[in-house]
Amino acid sequence: MKSPYFKEEHHLFRETVHDFFAKEVMPHVSEWEDNRRVPKDIWKKMGDMGYLGLCHKEEYGGMDADIWYSVIFLEELAKTNGGFSSNVSVHIYMATNHIAKAGSEQLKQKYLVPSIAGEMVAALAVSEPGAGSDVSAIRTNARREGDNFIVNGQKLWITNGTYCDFYTTAVKTENGITLMVIDGNAEGVTRNKLNKMGLHSSDTAEVYFDNVKVPVSNVIGEEGRGFHYIMDSFQLERLVIGMSSIGANEQTLEQTLQYMAERETFGRAINKYQVLRHTIAQLASEVEQNKQFVYHTCWLHEQGEYVVKECSMIKLLSAELNKKVVDECLQMFGGYGYVEDFPICRAYRDVRVGTIAGGTSQIMREIISKIVVDGIEHKRAYNPSDAQNIQGNNTSIVAKEIIKSLADRFRPEKAADYATTIHYDISGENGGQYTIKIANGACQVEEGLQGEAKCIINVADKLYEALETGKADAQAAFMNGEIKVSDVGEMMNFTKVFKRLS
Ligand SMILES: Cc1cc2nc3c(=O)[nH]c(=O)nc-3n(C[C@H](O)[C@H](O)[C@H](O)COP(=O)(O)OP(=O)(O)OC[C@H]3O[C@@H](n4cnc5c(N)ncnc54)[C@H](O)[C@@H]3O)c2cc1C
Repeated sequence: MKSPYFKEEHHLFRETVHDFFAKEVMPHVSEWEDNRRVPKDIWKKMGDMGYLGLCHKEEYGGMDADIWYSVIFLEELAKTNGGFSSNVSVHIYMATNHIAKAGSEQLKQKYLVPSIAGEMVAALAVSEPGAGSDVSAIRTNARREGDNFIVNGQKLWITNGTYCDFYTTAVKTENGITLMVIDGNAEGVTRNKLNKMGLHSSDTAEVYFDNVKVPVSNVIGEEGRGFHYIMDSFQLERLVIGMSSIGANEQTLEQTLQYMAERETFGRAINKYQVLRHTIAQLASEVEQNKQFVYHTCWLHEQGEYVVKECSMIKLLSAELNKKVVDECLQMFGGYGYVEDFPICRAYRDVRVGTIAGGTSQIMREIISKIVVDGIEHKRAYNPSDAQNIQGNNTSIVAKEIIKSLADRFRPEKAADYATTIHYDISGENGGQYTIKIANGACQVEEGLQGEAKCIINVADKLYEALETGKADAQAAFMNGEIKVSDVGEMMNFTKVFKRLS
């Protein structure tokens, strides 16, 4: 199908990538599956081709190419082998991208440049035994000691985790979740390879950190803002999974059509049986439909849109469709589909993880239903560099005026029998200290911290303005430690009795 997104140079790029994989990867895939790893030299070869830096800046050795190059690369990559495809997409789009986006110049030189060159392999270490879907529940902690952090904890399900050179790691620090680079060979790091159902060429590990000393300079971006970075990067991660699913599905369909043309039963090729043809017709339609949805969302993402709904839908639909396509195609192979000599057998095992890793289908439905049913809007979490923007474009009303407006926005009909005292300690030139008292169906705003509070809120003036005007995400700000709330339950009761700032 013709597409408005791809130009001549993109098509040429696809040919080059396809030829590279045909020569450098396809002949070795079975060996890599057996060895439960890919060799180091394939990373270097991809680095030399510029593939590991497609989306990264030229000054770090990247190609700074538009998103359509990544689409092509990931589609072709997914056609090679599920495990290899996971390794590479995690390295580029999930682990090194955090350093590229928020890392210091020193981190970029030390880790990003060699990762783009294929001299280092990266892993993303967020999930833990007790924290997969619920990222905020992570327990790996980092305690500051002079110029270092001392990290203790355990990570689980880490792609590239056994052989990587470093981990982009989420840890809990004093002020929230922080992302930091931890060297794979640092003292106190141990890793065990997991024995998985599929994706055999991808090494997946559990990783232990036992008093690991990590220089403070290894913190990616700002300390305490890791949750924000992780949430923000989820959109690209989910889109990347969608791009890969296109290649995987097309490859499965192609292999199946080839087999159906060759296999005869009752004197006819099985591709002549209407029931099987209709199955293929249905699958091909759904694959095409999903592909166009992914492309459209790539286009939106490229325009700078924060496409939480679309990316979550893509992750959900792509992973479920992958599973369906492989399952129904395997059926066309009869008994041959059930033996390892046929790639469809491996694909069947590989796709199963799609509805689990990178956010489960249930979690995607949760996110989507909150948007579609509850009307929740997702906005990028507050970024201090946006402060100018918030003031310039979005509101002229400052924190001290907003807090005083609470008295006017009070909804007595929602506050029957409700009584509370809340202290706001708002830092910054437009902040101050305020006490909000609710009792007997009335609300009073007083300056200063008066009486005993049921809940104390510490927040910067710019963030408070952004939160009240809907320009920042309250949950993300809370998880990042940007807003401190002494009693979250009381805070939630409190916010229910006010009209929103219009
Ligand atoms: C092969 C593989 C590779 C991976 N690679 C990485 C990696 O490189 N880095 C990394 O950090 N992580 C990685 N992961 C972890 C992956 O992201 C998590 O496994 C995933 O997020 C699910 O978390 P969990 O396994 O803890 O399941 P849980 O969160 O325990 O979920 C268990 C079940 O409960 C359901 N559930 C949970 N909460 C809700 C809810 N609120 N509503 C409805 N249902 C719910 C889930 O959908 C699921 O069915 C990988 C996982 C696998 C299997």
